[in-house]
Amino acid sequence: MSRVLFWILLALLVYFALRAKLRAAARKQMQQQTHVPPRQQNAPPPAAIENMTSCAHCGLHFPASEALHADGRDYCSPAHLPRLP
Ligand SMILES: [Zn+2]
Repeated sequence: MSRVLFWILLALLVYFALRAKLRAAARKQMQQQTHVPPRQQNAPPPAAIENMTSCAHCGLHFPASEALHADGRDYCSPAHLPRLP
């Protein structure tokens, strides 16, 4: 009788050990799926932040690279450029 009890206890021990291992593996896999790796040291820097300017006519703020320049001021579109006499 004690031999049967030994095998039942051994089976239960193996069952719980396997279950704990499977749960740990599943948890680890879930962490890997949601984990965002830290930026690598040799990765390129983020894109440079572009300077903004405002239109001298309407006050619209827009990227300075798209500005039209006239008499030292920035304008958003040709329609807002000062008219020449
Ligand atoms: Zn404008």
